[in-house]
Parts: sequence; structure tokens; C-alpha cells
Amino acid sequence: MNAMRHVLAVAGSDSSGGAGIVRDIETLAAFGVKASVAITAVTVQTHDHVQQVDAVAPDRVAQQMRAALSANPIAAIKIGMLATSATIAAVVTVLADYPGIPVVLDPVLVSTSGRALLTPDAMDDLRELFRSCTLITPNLPELSVLAAPAGTTSSDSMADQARSLLTAGAKAVLVKGGHGDGAESIDILFQADHAGQSFASPRLAATMRGTGCTLASAIAARLALGDTLSMAVAEGKAFVHRMLRET
Ligand code: PLP
Repeated sequence: MNAMRHVLAVAGSDSSGGAGIVRDIETLAAFGVKASVAITAVTVQTHDHVQQVDAVAPDRVAQQMRAALSANPIAAIKIGMLATSATIAAVVTVLADYPGIPVVLDPVLVSTSGRALLTPDAMDDLRELFRSCTLITPNLPELSVLAAPAGTTSSDSMADQARSLLTAGAKAVLVKGGHGDGAESIDILFQADHAGQSFASPRLAATMRGTGCTLASAIAARLALGDTLSMAVAEGKAFVHRMLRET
């Protein structure tokens, strides 16, 4: 069994199955990768309403991560909903002991239905986590919140906002264009000392919940399988496009 690649998903549960850990496990399975999990929060959700969020105790999140990392040869870590600043701090502590494992962070801030999935006071802690990450995958609204001091939003260009996350310590930032407009959905990968690299796919009318979870998990799966970052992003984006086409 250990010949298979393992990815650790650090994420919240979503009772509707539309997002969160269910999406992560489905995506990892589609790439032939085994999933280990550390649940950060239990959420009660339908497809259009988040009814309840219960954060798991931060120590328990860290214990789940350490148990998964000792049980399996984890080749990549995907992080989604973190719920609170104390949980972020716990995750940072664990990651510090595993500097060689690539980490993909989907910076989940709010649900599509508008419920906060990370407490607003946790933005600075989230920026601290960037230093431990190989890749961060914000959408456009998340990028403008993350690029600005707490309580404000940035009016810088998208590229300047992305580069400010690199300055904050991220090794790479993939800005997702799904919330933009135009005939193509264009994601742009920013890395220090590189020109931005674009990944385009035709924009589809279909919408699907959990696309952020799916993309970040797909990229983590491909990194675990040995892809370079830009190969992993291309494969991940193609996978999300196929899923949207089949919706
Ligand atoms: N619930 C959980 C547990 C999530 O992790 C996420 C996003 O990552 C969401 C809800 C939000 O998903 P959506 O915006 O597709 O509703």
C-alpha cells in the first residue's frame, strides 16, 4: 500500500458533500493518490446555506496531522478551511517539523453563501502560514483581502497584490480567474523572479461548489506524483475544467 503516494488533506467537513474534505478525498482518489485527513471543523451545510460551524480543538488538529504524517509517507499536504487563528498556529507548528513536504494552501475565507469560514481576526495569522507554503491559491476576492492590512481591501493591481503575497513569504501564488469575466477563465501563477505564467481554459456557464478545494487537491496530488509546480497547476486546472464540463 505504501507504494502509493499519500496526500494529507487538512480541511473542514461539509455535510452536503459540495466542498471541503469530501471534495478533497474524491479528487485525490481520481488521481490515484491515497488521502490522509486532519479535520479542522465540522460544518452543517446544504448547498446554499451554512447552518453551523464547529471548529475542532487546535491541538486535536495538530495531533491528527502528526498521526497522519507518522502513519503514512506523506508526499504533499493540502490545506483548506482553518476556522480560527489558534488552528492556524497549530498547523504552522506541525509544518515547521516537515519542511521538505510541499504544501498547497487554498485560503478559504467565506462560503459562496456568505458565511465566514475563517474568523476575521485571523488574517495576519494566515499571512504567517504563507511562509510554510509551496503554493497559495486565492481567488480574486480572497487575493484583495489577503493583500491588504486587516479590515481594508487593496486597490493595487492583481499582479501587485499577488507579488505582495510572495513578499509575505509564499513561494508561489496561483490567482484563480473564475470570479473574473471574459471568454476564458485565466489563472496566473506568480513566482519570485519569474514572469507570471497564464493557464487558460474556456469559461463555462456551469458553476459547481468546491472548485477551490478540488483545484488545490488536484495540484497537491500532482505534486505528490512528482510534477513540477507548473505541470501540477496545468493538470489541476484541466481536471477542474473537465469536472465543470460534466456538471
Ligand atoms: N465548507 C467547507 C468545509 C469548505 O472547505 C469550503 C471551501 O473550501 C466551503 C464550505 C465553501 O465552498 P463553496 O464556496 O463552494 O460553498
